Amino acid sequence: MSGSLKRYRDRRDFSKTREPRGRAPKRGEGHHWVIQEHAATSHHFDFRLEVGGVLRSWAVPKGPSTDPRDKRLAVPTEDHPLDYLNFEGVIPEGEYGAGAVIVWDTGTYTNLTTDDDGEEKPMDRALADGHAAFRLDGEKISGGYALTRMGSGDDAHWLLVKMDDEEADARRNPTSTERSSVLSGKTIEDVAREADRDGEDPE
Ligand code: MN
Repeated sequence: MSGSLKRYRDRRDFSKTREPRGRAPKRGEGHHWVIQEHAATSHHFDFRLEVGGVLRSWAVPKGPSTDPRDKRLAVPTEDHPLDYLNFEGVIPEGEYGAGAVIVWDTGTYTNLTTDDDGEEKPMDRALADGHAAFRLDGEKISGGYALTRMGSGDDAHWLLVKMDDEEADARRNPTSTERSSVLSGKTIEDVAREADRDGEDPE
């Protein structure tokens, strides 16, 4: 079952990065998600959903919107291990994804995807079919969202869109106004600065 983490592990040198190597995925009932802000070569947000014992992942350049009219591009990336839910720190220079990472928001989700008969469609099948709907319950982000695959083959991309529900709010702009980590209270600049300071002062 750990097969889907092969790409994740192949890309990283765990003697250099403090990112989790990841245990073998457990078949579990967990429905966690995380949005990490990542100051890599190009700044983006990583949206990760727990499905089948791993974190299915998308890089969302602009991050999530609370406005249902916004369609946010979401580029699929490799599955990440569950331990990554709590990862915050700096990926060292020269390593894959080098740059600071904070846990911008995290929580649990409820699958809202249904099949033609109105029965709940499992998330792995929903994603394979190119459309998943879910309710997120976090500190900054809550309510319904949908991920939809557009196009096919090399042109395929996904869109992350807020559903028009009670939590929809076109005036909020949480990626700009609520910048602190929900884990540590630090901004991504704080995390980067601390790492620089530690680097200058070797033991
Ligand atoms: Mn990233």
